Amino acid sequence: MKQLILRDIIRKNILALEPYSCARDEYMGDGGIFLDANENPFGTLNRYPDPYQSKVKQKLGQMKNIPENRIFTGNGSDEVIDLVFRIFCNPGIDRALSFPPTYGMYRVSATINDVEMIEVPLLESFQMDLPALIPFFDDARLKIIFICSPNNPTGNLMNPNDIKFILENFKGIVFVDEAYIDFAGSRSLISEIDEYPNLIVSQTFSKSRSLASARIGIAYSNPEIIGYYNKVKAPYNVSGPNQQAAFDALVNENEFLSRKSAILEEKRRLQKEFSTIPLIKKVYHSDANFLLVEVDDADSTYAALIDMKIVTRNRNSVINNCIRITVGTRDENTALLKALKNI
Ligand SMILES: *Cc1c(COP(=O)(O)O)cnc(C)c1O
Repeated sequence: MKQLILRDIIRKNILALEPYSCARDEYMGDGGIFLDANENPFGTLNRYPDPYQSKVKQKLGQMKNIPENRIFTGNGSDEVIDLVFRIFCNPGIDRALSFPPTYGMYRVSATINDVEMIEVPLLESFQMDLPALIPFFDDARLKIIFICSPNNPTGNLMNPNDIKFILENFKGIVFVDEAYIDFAGSRSLISEIDEYPNLIVSQTFSKSRSLASARIGIAYSNPEIIGYYNKVKAPYNVSGPNQQAAFDALVNENEFLSRKSAILEEKRRLQKEFSTIPLIKKVYHSDANFLLVEVDDADSTYAALIDMKIVTRNRNSVINNCIRITVGTRDENTALLKALKNI
């Protein structure tokens, strides 16, 4: 790989940025009489939280065998995605690239940041089209490539050799979104963050960790990129109660594992049952906690389910006649199956 110098692709204003120094940056000691941050001395949520979420990162780091300086935690993956634009892309000038159909936030976040999103459609196999991608490697304004693996809404993992090829040949940031990796029987790329200076791996507490409401997203990368993340983020970007919720979720590993296996077992049941329902034409392979199914007429199937108060995701606008169905509890799935058989 030709040497990639991170400093060359960081926005100049971010390189030069002197970050806001909050009260909790200046005094990091443990006890004391805190008269430094204009907090109210009364109450239970009255103190500003740890700006760097150290307890959560320490625990995550121990579990994943990754040092704390290679971990960023943010207000959901939404923040992790937004900040990567703000660190690397000059508004109105630089570009990013994604492989649709994929997670809609890459595009929305690009637009908010005034960054053009180049789209290279997935192949029919839902894998990346490398021959179509390679010419874009020469575009000096292309700063970030987004790879979602397992991909939403198609459900499949991307070919690891393709990801490796992109990491080795693209001289910009490769952002791999692993929101669903815990459901896939495959290794995370977080073990590669020291191999590739351009790799950012994002994960989230929203799916496998049952904490969508707490809004905890994670970026794993080398200390230099994590340093830029910390420089650009809002000072107290994860609330105290949410930091505690994330920590508790990590401590409760047995609950995580038993919920995960319940979901995977229900997924296998749905796959089996779906194949017997005439209305369903195809059930796509899934490495996630949802199934993409093709039906005769997605709009009408979706509407019929809504009439029965069963809410699925109609993806007809992105993949012809496809509906994305999240794996629920046993009872929820039973109700879904009954409804599908009655349409
Ligand atoms: C659900 C999902 C996320 C999670 O987003 P949060 O902001 O962390 O809740 C991220 N990426 C993909 C592809 C998703 O489907």
